[in-house]
Amino acid sequence: MRAAIYWGKGDLRVEEVPVPEPGPGEMLVRVEACGICGTDIKKIEKGLLPGPRIFGHEICGTVARLGAGTQRFREGDRVVVHHHVPCRRCFYCAQQAYAQCESYKRNGTTAGFEAAGGGMAEYVKALDWIVERGTIAVPDGVSPEEAALVEPVNTCLKAVRKAGVTRGQTVLVVGQGPIGLILTQLCRGAGADVLASDTMADRLAMSRRLGAAAALDAAAVDVPKEV
Ligand SMILES: [Zn+2]
Ligand SMILES: [Zn+2]
Repeated sequence: MRAAIYWGKGDLRVEEVPVPEPGPGEMLVRVEACGICGTDIKKIEKGLLPGPRIFGHEICGTVARLGAGTQRFREGDRVVVHHHVPCRRCFYCAQQAYAQCESYKRNGTTAGFEAAGGGMAEYVKALDWIVERGTIAVPDGVSPEEAALVEPVNTCLKAVRKAGVTRGQTVLVVGQGPIGLILTQLCRGAGADVLASDTMADRLAMSRRLGAAAALDAAAVDVPKEV
């Protein structure tokens, strides 16, 4: 199969690699869409990790093959696979500090090499704990491109809930890149009015289209004063 392999700083090549073999409790997923995470771009551009690795962790696909004893899903099921999930049993999980959980730190989806997401490949393997606790079924009518956004939307939704965004509030979202635009929509969904800022004209236009009451050009106006 083909995969985008990261070999080191600024070095990403589409090459042939073996299709992963699902072991007991694991499953193989044919990737239909994979979002490009800004953190992966940073890792590639700055060479933050040793290669080779196959990145990509905003993954939607179809179950292609089950390992021995894998029961939660069947071949043909449409799924989103997370690349890491908390154990929900340890001290840190009890404090909701999930990023500190030892289980959460393990990457559980791979297309080969050191597990690093693996979504930038034709097939990705979900390891057993991801099959059990980190895979969700995709409803009919939701496209692969939409479903691939579950991971970043989930991250942003936690922030919106933690901030207690509700109806009647006015929220400023600073930056209207992909994550900022998701936050704008989630804050609108929570009932708040959104003011947004960015310096790029196309992002400001998209922000207005997606419901910002005002999208301020931070290069042209004093944003705190405008707010
Ligand atoms: Zn990410
Ligand atoms: Zn835990």
